Formats: sequence, structure tokens, C-alpha cells
Amino acid sequence: IEESEKFRIEYWELEEAKLRRMPAPRPLAARVALVTGAGSGIGRAIARRLAAEGACVAVADVDGGSAERVAAELGGPDRAVAVTVDVTSEEQIAAAFAAAVLAFGGVDLVVNNAGISISKPLLETTAQDWDRQHAIMARGSFLVSREAARVMTEQRMGGDIVYIASKNGVFAGPNNIAYGATKADQAHQVRLLAAELGEHGIRVNGVNPDGVVRGSGIFAGGWGARRAAVYGVEESELGAYYARRTLLKREVLPEHVANAVFALTGGDLSHTTGLHIPVDAGVAAAFLR
Ligand code: NAD
Repeated sequence: IEESEKFRIEYWELEEAKLRRMPAPRPLAARVALVTGAGSGIGRAIARRLAAEGACVAVADVDGGSAERVAAELGGPDRAVAVTVDVTSEEQIAAAFAAAVLAFGGVDLVVNNAGISISKPLLETTAQDWDRQHAIMARGSFLVSREAARVMTEQRMGGDIVYIASKNGVFAGPNNIAYGATKADQAHQVRLLAAELGEHGIRVNGVNPDGVVRGSGIFAGGWGARRAAVYGVEESELGAYYARRTLLKREVLPEHVANAVFALTGGDLSHTTGLHIPVDAGVAAAFLR
């Protein structure tokens, strides 16, 4: 056999061996999830949905009290554990994964959801604002994904990493330089990690919500008031205002974002990686702001 032919055969034998090792997706009832920022809003809805589908869940949040409350609601220590973790800390992230592995034997589904929103005009955005926003959302999700990949590749069972990114990482609007830049960073982390981790059976996808006002700590903590002022509506009317400007004329709730995480991780999209799913009732599709 010619040298090139020998190489071709060896190459395909290797590829086939890899495929044989490739783990099939497991049902959520057989899986362990770690959700960051799960004490509130979208993260809490995701933790609830994954638990309702039978997954064991590590409810991770910098606010340990809210994580405890959500974990208790999900059924207590056999079904959920609360872990206090600041995603800016490598040590705390490692400890959070270790706690989940200790409680449930492994982790094979990780949701990068923790976040804050520092959304100011460019000239008011300080270097500290930029650093804080990036420390939590760009660097924080990188660190969480790195630990997830370490644990999942050691387990050799594949897994899912999902980023709760944003329409703001794709489309631009004013007064959003720090937050928008971190969401664009996360969007590319999805593609880069999908490229690197695919051969381990680890899928990496994103969900891009928009206008999730109800239940969102980010909206309640000032972002909502600023948006309401920009649109000239009462803050209490913001959810309805957002709904009116969507194609579907519907308000997006945390549960709708959780539905997309379930769609990505529940088994039916087993051959999808590197994708972002918008959950915005059609805002991004029509370039509406
Ligand atoms: P939220 O404030 O209700 O939830 C964010 C959670 O992250 C909180 O529980 C908070 O304690 C936690 N958190 C903050 N800093 C942390 C840190 N350093 N370490 C660990 N946890 C930390 O807000 P939400 O609206 O539910 O937002 C959740 C995610 O969804 C964010 O990443 C946000 O950018 C994204 N998102 C939200 C919307 C929306 O319309 N609400 C739209 C697009 C994207």
C-alpha cells in the first residue's frame, strides 16, 4: 500500500474509533445540571424546568440565600443543592463543581446565566464599570466553561454547555457599550468552545433572550427604570411595552427562556452545536429595538 493510502486508512480508523466513543445524549432524568445565577429570574426558571424534567440541579449564585431558597423549592438535597459562588473566583467555581460532583456523582449540563448589567452612555462608562461587567460575564462564563469542560472530559460522557447570551451581543443600541460587548464575547465563546469540545461529545449553544422584564433582577435593579425613561413609558408598563414591539405581540417570560434550554438539552437537538436560539418573540428577526 502506498504511504498516502496507509495514512488515509489510519485516519479513518481513528475517526471511527472516536465516533464509537462518542456518548449518546442522555435524558434529563439521568443528568446533573449546574446553573449559575439560578437564585433569580431566568436562571431560577431554568433550574425549575430542568428539575421538573428530572435532572438533579446545583443552584449556583453569588447570593447564597436565594440559591438556598430555590434549591429547597426544587425538592431538597436529593434533587438540588445550593452553592454560593462568585463567578469571578476560580477557587469558588472549582468548589461549586466539586460540591455538585460530591452530591450527585458528576456534572454534564452547565448553564452560564449569571450576570449583571452596567448599561451607561459611553462617556459615563468608567474603566471600573468595564472591568466589572467583563469580570462577571465574559471572564466569569469563560472560567465556568473551562471547569465544565475539565469535569466533562474527565467523565467521558459528553455534555452540554449553554450560554444565556443576548440579542444585545448581536445587535447594537446606544448606552450599552460594556454589557453589549460582554454579550458579543459570550456569543463567540459559544462558537469557539463548540469547535474545541465537539470531539468530546460536548455541545455548546446559546440562547438570546430579549425583554424579560418580569422576575428579572437586572430590570428591577435600575436597567428597567432607564429603559422606561428612554421609551417614555412607566416602569410598570415596560413588559407590555416590550410585548407590543415584538412580532408575536407577546411578553417574553423567564419560562420561555427555560423552554429553549430544555429544547437544546432535552435530547431532540442532539446534533446541534454552536447555535444561538433567539427567545425574543421576533425582535431580532425584524431588527426592532
Ligand atoms: P437576574 O438579576 O434576575 O439574575 C442574575 C443572577 O445572577 C442573580 O441571581 C445574581 O445574584 C447572579 N449573579 C450576579 N453576579 C454574580 C456573580 N458574580 N456570580 C454568580 N452569580 C451572580 O437577571 P436576569 O434577567 O434573570 O438575567 C439572567 C441572564 O440573562 C444574564 O446573563 C442576563 O444578561 C441575561 N439576559 C437577560 C435578558 C432580560 O431581558 N432579562 C435579556 C438578555 C439576556
